[in-house]
Order: sequence, then C-alpha cells, then structure tokens
Amino acid sequence: MKLKPLDSGGIMLSYRCQSGCRHCVYACGSKWQDWMSRDFLENLLRGLKETSENLKGFHLAGGEAFLNFDLLLFAVEKCTELGVPLEYVETNAGWCVDYATGVEKLKLLKDAGLRSILISVSPFHAETIPLKRTLTAIRVSEKILGAGNVIVYMWQFIDLIDRFSREKPIPLNNWIKTFGNEAAGSLFWDGYALIPGGRAGVELGFLAPSKYPPEHFARENCLREILLSGHVHFDPYGHYIPLFCGGLSLGKIEDLAAFVKTFDYRKLPLVKILVEEGPYGLFIFAQNEFGLELENKFFAGKCHLCVEVRRFLAQTGVFEELAPKAFYENLRSTLPPLEE
Ligand code: SF4
Ligand code: SF4
Repeated sequence: MKLKPLDSGGIMLSYRCQSGCRHCVYACGSKWQDWMSRDFLENLLRGLKETSENLKGFHLAGGEAFLNFDLLLFAVEKCTELGVPLEYVETNAGWCVDYATGVEKLKLLKDAGLRSILISVSPFHAETIPLKRTLTAIRVSEKILGAGNVIVYMWQFIDLIDRFSREKPIPLNNWIKTFGNEAAGSLFWDGYALIPGGRAGVELGFLAPSKYPPEHFARENCLREILLSGHVHFDPYGHYIPLFCGGLSLGKIEDLAAFVKTFDYRKLPLVKILVEEGPYGLFIFAQNEFGLELENKFFAGKCHLCVEVRRFLAQTGVFEELAPKAFYENLRSTLPPLEE
C-alpha cells in the first residue's frame, strides 16, 4: 500500500505560540523556540510543486506564524514565486494589538500574494487572547483582503465570549462554572468539533460527553488517516505528519518527491500497527512489550487513546516515529489546571 500523493495541508513554521491552548493538536506553546529554516522552507515548497500537479492548497501556520513576521512574509513571497497555491494564513490574532498594527502587517502580506486569512476564535483561544484583538484582526482583514476572504473559525463563539468579556482573557474554568461540566463539555466537544488528538484528549477528555474504554476502538484502524488522506502537515524540523496526527512522524523530509515515492509504512513499526490495527492494536503492543496498563481509563476518541499510548511509548526512546520528542513533553498545558 503506497502513500497517497498529497494534495493539501499545512506548513507549520514553528510550534511556538503564545497561547498554548488546551485543545492544541500539535501541543504548541511558549516553551518551543525553533522556527523552520528558510532553506528548508524553500526546498519544501519546490518539493510540493514537484510531487503533485494537483495541489489543492496549503496553509501557513504555527504555532503562531505572526510571532516571526519576517519568516511569514518570506513564506508568502516564496509560495507566490514558486506557484504553490496558498489557501490562507492561520492566526490566533494575539499580535493584533490595534488597527494600525493590523493594517501594516496585512498590507505587507497582501502585497506578497496573500489572498485569505483564517482567524481562530474559541473558548480555548479566548483563555489567552482578548476578544478585542480577534475582532480587530477580523475588521482589518476584511478591509485589506475583502470580507469574502476572511475565515473566522468559529464565528458562533464570538457572542458567547463577549458575554464574559471583550477586554480580558477568560479562563476556561469560568465557562465550566457558568454552564456546568455537562453543558460546557458539550459546547467544547460538539460545538467546536474537537479533534481528540494532541493536547485535547489529555486536557479536556474528562469533559467529553461520551468516553469509552480502549477496546471500544478495537475495530478502528488508521489506514485512511495515515496513507490515504492526501492531507499532510510539515513541521519546522521537517517531519511529515499525516493529516492531524501531531507527534507522529512518517519521516524527515529532505527530498519530498523521493520520500513519497519510496515510502513504505511497514518499515516503521508503530505506523505499521496504526495503519493495520489502529490505536487499540498499539495499546496491546505497548501492554505486551512494555507493560502499559490502562485499567479504568476512558477515552474521548481513538486519537485520545493513541496519544496516551504514544506518550507512554515515547518514554522508551526507541521509536523514531514518535517525533518531535518535545511534543510529548508539552502535552500538558501550562495554563492553570481545570477544576475536575
Ligand atoms: S491551537 Fe492554540 S496553541 Fe495551538 S497553534 Fe493554535 S493558537 Fe497556538
Ligand atoms: S488514532 Fe493516532 S494515528 Fe490514528 S488518526 Fe488518530 S492520531 Fe492519527
């Protein structure tokens, strides 16, 4: 079974982000320091063009890409120059402290070829980003890029956040106190359609409306997500991350076209298990080989189970696929603990 040629995805310029949200699939936050090198970025963009004639679109992201604006601008320029279809830049808007700052940056990006922007808004982002900045970023983006080119993910949270505060960040505990565990859990998990991978299951799993024991996922493999999705994320270290599987690397990219052509999932022991048997198979492997116990533990989704097992296996230090290592060290949020 070959790797389906990629056609879309994200380029993570860094894992660095001032927010460190509890739902972050890539466990981003302020402890991360590194940024993608310009040489690697250019090489990657050339590789994307070479690998597929059918690229639907890529987005630029972090972490928070605006924290290194020069690199972000360079990335937009290079996408334009090399003809890589750039869908949008994704941002948490924390940098947009006032209208003038927004205009200055957006104009530069537009001149470099940016056509669209995705602005995040949710209770998770609102823990660190005052709504006022988000609204300013939306207003500026509509002015510079045109209202039809601004994706607000997700609009429906704006009014709810505004009820708490427009000026200040809002601790997630306030939502839980106001709505109660059940309604807040449903709002977070169903309302935001949380992906239970990365930090989400670890931090927010206890609030999920439905939770299951490991054997519930026994019939779910990850063939579609790992080999067949065609959607991929590249991290600043060059890791090829299938779909949204933060912390799982199919390898480090040097020559993308050659990588995709010669990739054989059977050479990566954990990826092989995930493709053929899914995270429950990975749990059984970790139990038999390394003594992992998950008695009485319940999971919000198969990716939650997967991350829990991978976190355990990462401690053995023997599996190259569990990368970057710091992903596993940053799975716990640095925000104040939630009241369970
Ligand atoms: S989800 Fe939050 S922590 Fe993750 S990159 Fe986005 S803003 Fe940063
Ligand atoms: S269970 Fe693991 S490998 Fe499968 S899609 Fe989720 S994170 Fe990816």
